[in-house]
Amino acid sequence: MANQTRRVKGPRPKHVPMRTCVVCRTTRPKRELVRIVRTLTGPVVIDLRGKQNGRGAYLCRQQVCWTAAFKRRALEHALQTAVSPEDRAQLEAFARTLPPTLPAPATAPVGDDTVVAATAPPASSNQAPSAR
Ligand SMILES: [Zn+2]
Repeated sequence: MANQTRRVKGPRPKHVPMRTCVVCRTTRPKRELVRIVRTLTGPVVIDLRGKQNGRGAYLCRQQVCWTAAFKRRALEHALQTAVSPEDRAQLEAFARTLPPTLPAPATAPVGDDTVVAATAPPASSNQAPSAR
């Protein structure tokens, strides 16, 4: 009897948490974005470790997104708070350390459930020819 179990063994591909930039809506791995947090005590800070409590928003590590965020008040929107001039100065100072733009994110496969239907699956040779 042919045993048809063809289970692929091995380690599962590591799950990469994805986040979306509040400005350009690009989805990137969380660690490629900068988290900005409205802390519980009030100030809006840059959370480089991603551990701060509070409401967070993500921006790309590129100046264009930060500049646009300031212009469009995207952070105020996302964090639902006003960003004080002091906090904003901090954000602007940080933005200046970033590259103007980033290359587009590599087209990474988005998890397992996205089956990439390539051309034809490698057909096993012992299939009955469906001649019709
Ligand atoms: Zn962005």
